[in-house]
Amino acid sequence: MIEILNLHKSFGSLEVLKGIDLKLDHGKVLVIIGPSGSGKTTLLRCFNLLEIPDDGSIVIGDTRLSFKESKKVPTSDVISIRQKTGMVFQSYNLFPHMTVIGNVMEGPVTVQKRSKSDARKRALVLLEKVGLAEKADSYPHQLSGGQQQRVAIARAMAVEPEVLLFDEPTSALDPELVGEVLKVIKQLAAEGMTMIIITHEMKFAADVADKIILMDDGYILEEGSPLEVLEQPKSTRALQFLNRLS
Ligand code: ATP
Repeated sequence: MIEILNLHKSFGSLEVLKGIDLKLDHGKVLVIIGPSGSGKTTLLRCFNLLEIPDDGSIVIGDTRLSFKESKKVPTSDVISIRQKTGMVFQSYNLFPHMTVIGNVMEGPVTVQKRSKSDARKRALVLLEKVGLAEKADSYPHQLSGGQQQRVAIARAMAVEPEVLLFDEPTSALDPELVGEVLKVIKQLAAEGMTMIIITHEMKFAADVADKIILMDDGYILEEGSPLEVLEQPKSTRALQFLNRLS
């Protein structure tokens, strides 16, 4: 299970997360939507400690961390959380000097200390899953954006995380390449992968999410099933946001 309690994060005097509480069961998909600047990316980055919260706690599986602004997070806790989370960024962030399979093997070899032959075998299985086994020896610049993002998904899965985190995984892609990436994510959802996804693709959100949160100004404004949040929002602000999208 994943849980966060009373999470706060400020950048200087700007309070970006103002007390977030959230629970997600294993095997479920959470989609985060909301206006620009509402704190979506900051929240997602807190899950793998790319941002360190000022206050509150995070539970991922058997790792439970509490934060206080004055207290440094021990490196062992950061490593523990990073091993439980795989991140997929907007702009893929593949290592350009490594082949596709090298990118997917990197985490298992360097972080998990797996043997290269083991890591290679697993990387090939993952590349097969995202439909790119034949590109194993290509370099990222030889692939389309959609293909690079599928490699990034395989790379994020390679360390066998408890949860995959996606920050607008299709927003850097040409429209005709969006579908192939969403299809891979939907397939992972059907296989029971736990995922937290920021997206502006509302149809995809409705299809894939077990739960949606709509963030606004550092708070969760609406939370519930896709039907509850997208079709029957309780607040006027949520309605305004959703109307702007349609
Ligand atoms: P978008 O949809 O535009 O990506 P968002 O909802 O993901 O927005 P965040 O990226 O979390 O929002 O940003 C929330 C606020 O925090 C913004 O005002 C942003 O400028 C600010 N912010 C984010 N990261 C930093 C940082 N490292 N230093 C200072 N301010 C930051």
